[in-house]
Amino acid sequence: MIIAGVDIGNASTETALALTEGGRLKFLSSGIVDTTGIKGTRQNIHGVFASLKQAADRAGIPLGDIGFVSLNEATPVIGDVAMETITETIITESTLIGHNPHTPGGEGIGSGVTISIRELPNAAAGDYIPIIAADTNHEEAAAIINRAVERGIGVKGAVAQKDDAVLIVNRIKTPIPIVDEVKFIEKVPVGMPAVVEVARAGGVVEMLSNPYGIATVFGLNPEETKFIVPVARALIGNRSAVVIKTPSGDVTERVIPAGKLQIIGEQRTLGVDIESGSQEIMKAVREASPVADVKGEAGTNAGGMLERVRQTLSDLTDRLPADIKIQDLLAVDTFNPQKVSGGVAEEFSMENAVGIAAMVKSDRLQMDMIARELAGQLKIKVGVGGVEADMAIQGALTTPGVSSPLAIIDMGAGSTDASVITRTGHVKSVHLAGAGNMVTLLIQTELGLDSWDIAEDIKRYPLARVESLFHIRHEDGTVQFFKNALSPETFARTVLIKEGGFVPIPVSASIEKIKTVRKEAKEKVFVTNALRALTMVTESGNIREIDFVVLVGGSALDFEIPQMVTGALSHYGIVAGRGNVRETEGPRNAVATGLVLNYGKGA
Ligand code: ADP
Ligand code: MG
Repeated sequence: MIIAGVDIGNASTETALALTEGGRLKFLSSGIVDTTGIKGTRQNIHGVFASLKQAADRAGIPLGDIGFVSLNEATPVIGDVAMETITETIITESTLIGHNPHTPGGEGIGSGVTISIRELPNAAAGDYIPIIAADTNHEEAAAIINRAVERGIGVKGAVAQKDDAVLIVNRIKTPIPIVDEVKFIEKVPVGMPAVVEVARAGGVVEMLSNPYGIATVFGLNPEETKFIVPVARALIGNRSAVVIKTPSGDVTERVIPAGKLQIIGEQRTLGVDIESGSQEIMKAVREASPVADVKGEAGTNAGGMLERVRQTLSDLTDRLPADIKIQDLLAVDTFNPQKVSGGVAEEFSMENAVGIAAMVKSDRLQMDMIARELAGQLKIKVGVGGVEADMAIQGALTTPGVSSPLAIIDMGAGSTDASVITRTGHVKSVHLAGAGNMVTLLIQTELGLDSWDIAEDIKRYPLARVESLFHIRHEDGTVQFFKNALSPETFARTVLIKEGGFVPIPVSASIEKIKTVRKEAKEKVFVTNALRALTMVTESGNIREIDFVVLVGGSALDFEIPQMVTGALSHYGIVAGRGNVRETEGPRNAVATGLVLNYGKGA
C-alpha cells in the first residue's frame, strides 16, 4: 500500500510518500507547499491536497493510489510577534544634527563657533562654523568663505539649509566638511561651539558617534561626558553630523513607561516592567515556568501589546480572547528608528525597543476535523498519526551519523520546538515562542523597512555591493569579477545574491549595518531559543547531558543559523548540525517522514 505522512506547519505543508510491502518501507517522493490558512483550521485542506498531489506527481502515481494519509497531531503552536519602543530621545535645545543628507560636502572634522554666514565678513579672528540659510546661494556662500579665509579667519566647517554642500565645497579654496539639508536652520543657535563631521562616501562618522570623541573635541569632564551618551548613540551609523554645545542645551533619553507584564506561572506569578528589557523579562519567564498565561497591565503599552497578540491568536484559532492562554514568551531587545522630537533636521534616533513572540497551544480536535473532511473529499483513509515532536525525532534519526540519545530542534516560522529521546526511547518535548518570523520582524524594524517580504529576503540571502558593471564586492569583502556586464539597474546598489541573480534592495543602510542587524536578529532568536529549549527538555536542566543535536525545519535551511547554533552548542560539548532527513531531504520533511515511519511500525 502507498502511505503518505503530511505535516501541516505554520508556514509549510510537507508530504512524505512511501510504499509499504511485506513490512518493508520504501520512500517514493516528497512534497512541499505553503500552508493554506492558519495551521489547524479547515483552510489547511487545500494545502494538504496540493502537497499530496505534488508528491504523487513526483512519484508518477495517481492521487487515488494513496491508501492512507497520516496527519500530525497539532499540539504545536501558533505564534505571533509584537514590538514596543521603550525610549525616546528628546532635544530640548538644538544641540545635535545627526541627519544623513544625501550629499554632504567635503570630508573630515572641523570645530569652531557657529556664526551666520552674513556675519562672517565682520568676524574677529578665530575658528568658525558658518550657518548658511537658504537665502544665501552657493556662489555667495563660497565667496564669503573664501574672503574670510584670505583675511586669516578659520572657517572649519559649515551647516547649510539647502542641498548645496557639494556645490559650495567645489567653489572654496580649502575644502571643509559641510552638512546640508538642515530644514529648520533658524533653530541652529549661533555663538556656540560646534563640531561638524563628514565621513568619506560609504563611511560613517567616528568622532561624533563616540562619547569620548565628543568629550575630546569639546573638552568635557567625565560628568558632562555621561550626559552626551544619547547624542553619540543617536549619531551612530550616520555619514555626517553636527554637534553644538549650548549652555543649557540638553539631549535626554527618556524611558517611556511601558507597563508591566504579568507572567502567570503554574506555581507563582511574577511581574516585570517591559522597559527593564529582555534579560529581566526572560528571567521572570524562567522563574515562573511552567507558564500558564501572560498578561499586560491594562491601560499601558504592555497591555496593548499583549492584547493585540491575544486578539490575533484568538482570530486565528477561533477561540475567545479570554480563552487564549499564552504559554511562552520570547522577549528580545531591539532598536526602532524614530524621529527625534525637537530635532532640527528631522533626525532619526535608534530607540530601544522590546520585541516579543508569544505562542499558544492549539487543540487536537481541529486536526480530527481536518482528517474527517480530507477523508471525505479524497475518499482515502486519513488518521491523526502522532505528536509532531515525536515524529520529528523519528524523521531526524534518519540523518546519517546520528543515534539516540538525541535532541532535535525544529526551527519553523512561529515556534522553535525541541525534543529529546533517551536511550530507552522516552521522548520529552517543548514548544517555544519565537522563530523565523521573529527574525524577519527584527530585521524589518531595525532597518525601518515597510515591506515584510524585503525583510524576509534580507534574512535569507547574502549581500553584495555592485561596485562597477564588471565587479561586485561580497559582504565578506571578497571581490568577484564578471566577463559580461551586469544589469545597469544594479550599478552602485546593495544587492541580494539570489538564485536567479542579483536583486537590488531599497535600503540606504550600509552593507555592514544590514549584515550586523541580520546576524544579531538570528542570534537573539535562535541561539537563545536553542539553549532555552535544550535546558527545558533535559532532566537535570544541564544541557551537557545531550550528545547530539539535529537541527530541522525551514529555518535550518538558513545560510548562517545552523552554524550559529552549532557554534553556541559546541561550548557545551554537544555535536550539533543541520539534519539530512532520509539522506536526501536536508532539514526538511522530518515530521512527514516520521509519520510514515511511525505508521510503518504500527502496521
Ligand atoms: P513550519 O513548520 O512552522 O511550517 P517551516 O519549517 O516551513 O515552518 O519553516 C518556515 C520558516 O523557515 C520561515 O520563517 C522561513 O522564513 C524560513 N525559511 C524557509 N526557507 C528558508 C531559507 N532558505 N533560509 C532561511 N530561512 C528559511
Ligand atoms: Mg514544522
